[in-house]
Amino acid sequence: MPVAALTTLGCKVNQYETEKIADDVARAGFTLTEFDAPADVYVINSCSVTAAADKKSRYLARKASRINPDAVVVMTGCHSQMVLDAGEWVDGATLLVPNHEKMETFRHVAQARPEVLTYSSSPASLLPERGYRTRATLKVQDGCEHFCGFCSIPYTRKVLVSRPADEIVSEAAALGRDGTREIVVTGVCVGAYGPDTGSGGPDLAELLLEIADQPGVARVRLSSIQPIEVTDALIEAFASHPNLCPHLHLSCQSGDDAVLERMNRPYDTAFYKNLVQRLRAAIPDVAITTDLIVGYPGETRQEHENTLRFAEEVAFQRTHVFRYSPRPRTHAETLPDNVAHEEKVRRHAELQAIVERTNQEFAERYIGETLPVLVEGREGGSSGGGNLSGHTTHYIKVVFPGPRELTGQIVPVRLTGVTGSGATGVLALTEAETAARVAAAAPRHEAPQFTPLLMAAP
Ligand code: SF4
Repeated sequence: MPVAALTTLGCKVNQYETEKIADDVARAGFTLTEFDAPADVYVINSCSVTAAADKKSRYLARKASRINPDAVVVMTGCHSQMVLDAGEWVDGATLLVPNHEKMETFRHVAQARPEVLTYSSSPASLLPERGYRTRATLKVQDGCEHFCGFCSIPYTRKVLVSRPADEIVSEAAALGRDGTREIVVTGVCVGAYGPDTGSGGPDLAELLLEIADQPGVARVRLSSIQPIEVTDALIEAFASHPNLCPHLHLSCQSGDDAVLERMNRPYDTAFYKNLVQRLRAAIPDVAITTDLIVGYPGETRQEHENTLRFAEEVAFQRTHVFRYSPRPRTHAETLPDNVAHEEKVRRHAELQAIVERTNQEFAERYIGETLPVLVEGREGGSSGGGNLSGHTTHYIKVVFPGPRELTGQIVPVRLTGVTGSGATGVLALTEAETAARVAAAAPRHEAPQFTPLLMAAP
């Protein structure tokens, strides 16, 4: 049986795409294996959002070609797109597939190395049992035209495309039927979803409501969205539908107006704070999470302190803090990277201290309360002892003792304390209720997850 290994770097969109490529590979009669095992075909879905992501993408190609020098090593994704556009190559790679042809990756392999297909027997029957996931990512949109000063994505995912709504809704329905309880709706610039770019009619708010109505789908979570793309209709959708998680990741990037302008972000802090107020007024308990960059070219001490005060004032539920690193072809790359590394580290630590405190203060509000938690599995994986972990609808991570069979179920948990990453709790079920849920639990066959190796910045 031919063997293939796939790996993903970067964002949820990449994660989703790798799963689809894996389906194609499996349909062609390949069995799937871990990336550091011998294989006939290796697929790397690369990322270029940070210098570290570039380096890791290149390392994986060399690694695969070392494991099996005769293998077909295919790279697609944003790093290979950057390399292709620069007319260069990646050591160890056999094939580089452009981003807009990513979903045809396996056709490229078949064309370049038809012999890899000779091994396979009757493709369709060999499709492995995909199993179901507690939470699944659903890509609905691609491309971005915002050209934020620090971001290379508009150069690697150039075309704005919305997937047809009926195609997305039927995929969501299938996930619901297969036992997926939470769907994470994602895109490169998900707020751009709509009829102008191919949805066939619905905008993002209408699409989310349709997905949330699919039988079996208990939760719909929206991944990162540009603040200016949060419409009144979207706020109304979140305020009205119980299955839309009260959690918005509003990527902000800085808390200083002059820095936002230099970043070419299309809003200022007053707009952002007003949007947060409107969301908190309309959606009780809404969690606002974000991304913030420290050390952007030219960022003064005063501008940084404005960001510290901004983070205090908005009080985010969770924040990814990044130290600025120049990206090829971006506007910021032309600016002097004049905030010293040590100063970036200092600013990172100052902001991190604030956002960790506001994260804990958000969770503290629910101590003593019983909240529905979607159980994602053993905390710390199979070696994690008796604790389970999962998330509330507003994205508080909760760790609590309980039987493994509850994985994939939404259970009531009473929060008892806060931790650096969320909260602790106890199962709010009687022994009889727990036993009944364990007995009713479907035998789980978790689908393989091509867990991203690096978290993307925006
Ligand atoms: S940060 Fe987001 S919105 Fe800005 S260019 Fe990158 S992908 Fe687009």
